[in-house]
Amino acid sequence: MKFNTKVIHAGIEPDPSTGAIMTPIFQTSTYVQNAPGDHKGYEYARTQNPTRKALEDNLAALENGKGAICYSSGLAAMDAILKMLNPGDEIISTNDLYGGSYRLMTKLFSKYGIKMKFLDLQEASVIQQHVTEKTKLIWIETPTNPMLNVVDIKAICDFAISKSIWTCIDNTFATPYLQTPLDLGATMVLHSATKYLGGHSDVIHGCVVTSDEGIYNELKFIQNAAGAVPGPQDCFLVLRGIKTLHLRVERSCQNAESIAHFLKNHEKVSKVYWPGFEDHPNHEIAKKQMKHFGGMVSFDLVSNTEESANRVMSNTHFFSLAESLGGVESLIGHPASMTHASIPKVERLKVGLTDSLIRLSVGVEDIADLKADLNNALEKV
Ligand SMILES: *Cc1c(COP(=O)(O)O)cnc(C)c1O
Repeated sequence: MKFNTKVIHAGIEPDPSTGAIMTPIFQTSTYVQNAPGDHKGYEYARTQNPTRKALEDNLAALENGKGAICYSSGLAAMDAILKMLNPGDEIISTNDLYGGSYRLMTKLFSKYGIKMKFLDLQEASVIQQHVTEKTKLIWIETPTNPMLNVVDIKAICDFAISKSIWTCIDNTFATPYLQTPLDLGATMVLHSATKYLGGHSDVIHGCVVTSDEGIYNELKFIQNAAGAVPGPQDCFLVLRGIKTLHLRVERSCQNAESIAHFLKNHEKVSKVYWPGFEDHPNHEIAKKQMKHFGGMVSFDLVSNTEESANRVMSNTHFFSLAESLGGVESLIGHPASMTHASIPKVERLKVGLTDSLIRLSVGVEDIADLKADLNNALEKV
């Protein structure tokens, strides 16, 4: 089955009891058994739910994995992965990552004796000097957030496999429409389905996909033991969102490309971060591992103050000022004070995340309206 068919059909069957073409929302906590242990595969909804199962089968197919596990949020999915580690284990991670992921590692898991190193992995071989016999997991976000650097997934995974180190790729920004890290050797793929997979800014949800049976079983055990399950209605919303994933991401990428070029030529803009530019430092890797260059664009202003950035952000109309990304509507945000506020300023500046950096999640509106909106706001600076 091809990707554009999988989004609509993989893992999804008409409901056998009614023929309903849409997967029903099985809003139940428990399932009746004929005799103890004699049941239809469902006992209690923390452990299994048919709406969740349909979504998990669909996600596994999209990422070319053997199994998926859904969670109540992207961070709950990450929390489950980190719970597979033991005190003393080390994580190596990209240094420019989602603020909440950074906070979960540094503020929570460091308390349990997990160590972490945050590295610029644009040059994949950098990792070799930092791996020790304690390194258990390599955590990669690509494209990174908000600087939109691209990390060579295959190069990192090849090295990790040679050292028996797990890799997890946070594929939230790219989506499986643009890249499938399991095909490049990754152990796990994580999503905040809150973003592109759900796609309509109406649900918080996360998942992990893997082809490693041992890891799948351990994550299932952790989920059943710790309980970070999504509700069936949320699973339904993600399932529905995924049916148009290919159409939405395609259009977002087109719009983002157009906006990146528009901003690059704008006199008020000093720098545009978008991996589709030929002079982007990781353009060749992006071209190799992604289908298009994604729907996210970040840019900095000639007048490089937070006040100027605020001017722009409070004068757009179609770009709504909000956290998050990946919905049909365009969003504008200020990483330094919003998504990345939990990262210390010195660390932020090291990667170029200035106080005037603005991040766009480009939606699927008409491109002429989006450009006019940005132009109008930039004129206010
Ligand atoms: C939003 C996000 C997360 C966290 O997901 P939640 O669903 O908000 O818990 C993790 N990684 C990336 C890249 C994100 O954008």
